[in-house]
Amino acid sequence: MKVVVLGAGIVGVSTAWYLLEQGHEVTVVDRQPDAALETSFANGAQISVSFCEPWAHPDAPLKVLKWLARDDSPLLFRPRLDPWQWRWGLAFLTQCTDGAFERNVQQLVALGRYSHESLKGLVAQTGIEYHRLERGILHFFGSQKDLEAGAAGAEVMRRHGVDRRVLSREEVLKVEPALASYGSRIAGGTYTPGDESGDARVFTQELARRCIARGARFLFGHGVDGLAQEGGRIASARVRELATGRTMALQADAYVAAMGSYTAPLLRPLGVHLNIYPAKGYSATLKLRQPERASVVSMIDDARKIAISRLGDQVRIAGTAELAGYDTGLDSATSRVRCQALVKRYEEIFPGVADASEPNFWTGLRPSTPTNIPYIGRSKLGNLWVNAGHGTLGWTHGAGSGRALAELISGKRPALEFGFYGERPASAWASVHRTLVPGA
Ligand SMILES: Cc1cc2nc3c(=O)[nH]c(=O)nc-3n(C[C@H](O)[C@H](O)[C@H](O)COP(=O)(O)OP(=O)(O)OC[C@H]3O[C@@H](n4cnc5c(N)ncnc54)[C@H](O)[C@@H]3O)c2cc1C
Repeated sequence: MKVVVLGAGIVGVSTAWYLLEQGHEVTVVDRQPDAALETSFANGAQISVSFCEPWAHPDAPLKVLKWLARDDSPLLFRPRLDPWQWRWGLAFLTQCTDGAFERNVQQLVALGRYSHESLKGLVAQTGIEYHRLERGILHFFGSQKDLEAGAAGAEVMRRHGVDRRVLSREEVLKVEPALASYGSRIAGGTYTPGDESGDARVFTQELARRCIARGARFLFGHGVDGLAQEGGRIASARVRELATGRTMALQADAYVAAMGSYTAPLLRPLGVHLNIYPAKGYSATLKLRQPERASVVSMIDDARKIAISRLGDQVRIAGTAELAGYDTGLDSATSRVRCQALVKRYEEIFPGVADASEPNFWTGLRPSTPTNIPYIGRSKLGNLWVNAGHGTLGWTHGAGSGRALAELISGKRPALEFGFYGERPASAWASVHRTLVPGA
């Protein structure tokens, strides 16, 4: 089959790779000059199979309310006159129950496991090097109360078969001795030895090269303007070469929409309503001055909800989320506060270890769904497939999502228990939405 993949982030490129594996002819379209130049560019670097709890949790609404007024809060909701933002927010609230949380965790763990296995296989097959560190993820807490909450969370995850251990302060320092000078302010932690970290951009770009070597065509610098529909199917993708303005209609047997946060607005005119909303996040990448004193285990600092990952001779500090539309600027007062807070926090924990004078700041839009569960599967338009909405975990779930979708397109059943889009039972919210938006 001829398949056109729209989007060359981690999800689109992984899909392309596995489609090639299934023997398809693949064309990938992206507006950027290379793969992984948008949300997959400088994320937290964590392959976080075991730290995968969705944001929607019974305690979340109160926390979000408390954080509303703080520019440096981990999750910032900026209400706008945007019906899609409100639709997302309301659906998010429906997920803040114990039952929904458990269900969502089960799905995320299943996808995470499948994806990790897929990623390992892919790395073994291709030999791609991307500053991979198989050292687990360490979540550390500053107070006994937070540690107890973390231990309760670990218990929930263990029920889903996840190996998440509760550690004393001494055990935390044994896992990551680089924390020693900050140790007196750590109450303890939780640790998932099976998790890992690595550079998503390097990996994705290398995988794209290997796809090209296997015969895939990549149309970089090409914007997707829309999809033309005929008789309940997609007839072509309207694509524009950005340098020349030249347009073309790409025809294929199947189309995969993997454009991160932009997937929802692209598909809306076709009556395909995905509840994906961008959650802006930030990262700072610093060059290490004293690599021997820097951490090697990927970490989550619970107090600030930030990830710290070692990438060769650099460190990446990433986190925070702002539900405020599609703006990717770094110049607003809020953005400056958020970026500086990342560097300041790193300096507090690891004083003098990195060169904080020239931070490389970045922002990206997590393609977030209210459940944190991505849309992977077939839309109501028979030859239009979706692989989008990976939110906080697109690097973790990229390989498995690509493999699962390529299998579905090839008429095979992926070996995981997962509610694929187009197959999963409609949520209560989806029924309400269908009433409000007939044909959705
Ligand atoms: C601060 C931060 C930290 C994160 N940390 C982690 C982490 O530690 N672990 C983890 O697993 N995940 C993490 N994530 C999430 C992860 O980065 C994303 O889920 C993932 O990158 C999404 O990949 P994607 O391929 O769906 O989207 P993208 O990488 O955004 O790819 C979509 C592609 O579509 C293209 N595109 C969009 N619109 C058009 C158009 N109209 N025409 C042509 N091309 C178009 C874009 O150019 C882009 O290349 C983090 C995210 C952020 C923001």
